[in-house]
Amino acid sequence: MGERPVVVVGAGLAGLACARALVATGREVVVLEAADAPGGRVRSDVVDGFVIDRGFQVLNTAYPALRREIDLDRLDLRRLPRGARVRRGGRLVDVPHPLASPAAPWRALASGAADVRGKVALARYVLGLLASSPAAIMARDDRPAVEVWREVLPAEVVDDVLVPFFAGVVLDPQVATSRVFADLMMRCFARGWSAVPARGMQRLPDALAADLPAGSLRLGSHVSDLAPGVVGLVGGAEVAASAVVLATDSRAAHDLLPALGEPPVLRGVRTFYFAADPWPGQSGTLVVDADGSGVATSVVLTASAPEYAADGRSLIATSVIGPGDLAAESVEATARALHEAPAGPWELVAVRDVPHALPAMPAPHAMRPAVEVAGLVVAGDHRATSSIQGALASGRRAARAVLARQ
Ligand SMILES: Cc1cc2nc3c(=O)[nH]c(=O)nc-3n(C[C@H](O)[C@H](O)[C@H](O)COP(=O)(O)OP(=O)(O)OC[C@H]3O[C@@H](n4cnc5c(N)ncnc54)[C@H](O)[C@@H]3O)c2cc1C
Repeated sequence: MGERPVVVVGAGLAGLACARALVATGREVVVLEAADAPGGRVRSDVVDGFVIDRGFQVLNTAYPALRREIDLDRLDLRRLPRGARVRRGGRLVDVPHPLASPAAPWRALASGAADVRGKVALARYVLGLLASSPAAIMARDDRPAVEVWREVLPAEVVDDVLVPFFAGVVLDPQVATSRVFADLMMRCFARGWSAVPARGMQRLPDALAADLPAGSLRLGSHVSDLAPGVVGLVGGAEVAASAVVLATDSRAAHDLLPALGEPPVLRGVRTFYFAADPWPGQSGTLVVDADGSGVATSVVLTASAPEYAADGRSLIATSVIGPGDLAAESVEATARALHEAPAGPWELVAVRDVPHALPAMPAPHAMRPAVEVAGLVVAGDHRATSSIQGALASGRRAARAVLARQ
């Protein structure tokens, strides 16, 4: 009789990263996934020929865990332009990469949103992050990001650029989030590119899953209960395990393992996907709305990834934080203004509601909580940071904990 496998519950990025690390050491692994495909919160559908991610999201090419996990060439990435465009007081202002273009961007801001002092302060802040290792950033005293920014950056930079931009990243309009997390993300934004795989974000989990041995990923396997040596499935079947890794989202993890304690607050987002004929001057730059419309960000995805549309039309992804109650017409009107799109028909292709998209990370945020709880090994973004980077890193960490037991 063979050795019992390590059982990984959940085939999101954390579970996949964990399984891959174990397989690489020759361990037998079974991954039990309730859904009909791997990916968890990183899934894509095709609707009327458009690639529709289940909520707008991007990866960053500088995520250390992503670079370690996969050769990025396999993802056929399409980069978004660096920087962002912010609407403030009805004006659209370009905010390029703080280090890429030392003078030009801030000239545009000089008349209202920020000035040269702001440019220099932000560039110095980002340079400081680039000069620090992730480990050094993680060792810092953790406080709310906004509080720290207000101490070192001019108010215009904080209010007109950083808060609206990060609100869309952490899905919290107040950005009451950990400065350690914000700093790590800013370091990645400065070093890398935001990108999407040409045929949708699901290419990432699909590529990770493709490397697992045939038969090790069992889809449609909904776990109902678990203990250190055995996992029970809805329907009554049981799978014996040499070790169990619980790699679900935080809600399922806390249901299955109450010893995890208080579950994190979850932030939600609703993404509206519109189709329109391309218009002159169209840009793929992410647009952030600081004018309180309810829209957080909007982007013309096809300007960077034309493969997201089959018919040459443009696909616009517009995100609203929380479930909210904004009507599609109002979201469309805001998106048109943010992209300076001319009159002409827009079609609502899809709406993707993800009410439990991200665990909130108020400061001080535990970047590395215990990986072993009640005899089980726990992974997932809620055990690291709420990001692709966090999920992958936590999966690797869980694999190390399993291997350390032998
Ligand atoms: C709309 C949206 C936008 C985002 N934008 C970004 C972004 O731009 N950049 C970024 O870095 N991150 C972003 N994120 C965050 C990132 O996608 C997540 O942090 C990451 O994918 C979480 O991976 P995970 O493996 O921890 O959890 P999940 O992806 O939730 O995977 C958990 C898996 O466990 C399975 N499961 C749950 N219960 C059971 C059970 N009982 N039995 C079996 N299986 C079970 C689930 O089906 C799922 O497949 C975004 C997330 C969302 C939703």
